[in-house]
Amino acid sequence: MSKRRLSQKTVEDIGRRRIDRLMDLSEEAVRQDRGDRARRYVELARRIGMKTRIGIPAERRYCKKCLIPMMPGVNCRVRLSNHMVVVTCCECGETRRKPYVREQKR
Ligand SMILES: [Zn+2]
Repeated sequence: MSKRRLSQKTVEDIGRRRIDRLMDLSEEAVRQDRGDRARRYVELARRIGMKTRIGIPAERRYCKKCLIPMMPGVNCRVRLSNHMVVVTCCECGETRRKPYVREQKR
């Protein structure tokens, strides 16, 4: 059977839905203290994101180092300092800084 060619839009739609579902499952796994499972789901979501070239939506935050979804108040810490949002992963201690210029302009 030959590979059926789907339009880029269809691929993106399916990809987005799958990523959404996987990230939901991943966050659920974190809540149940199943970090191993959570990481696996993020890994799968990333792979789909790469393949379909849509990536993981920005609002779905995950640790770039240990690949666990970052959920404020659950497994990461969010602090503001020097006009930066500092997110610390409680699993591996990795920190990420992000300027919040956009929010300030509002
Ligand atoms: Zn981490």
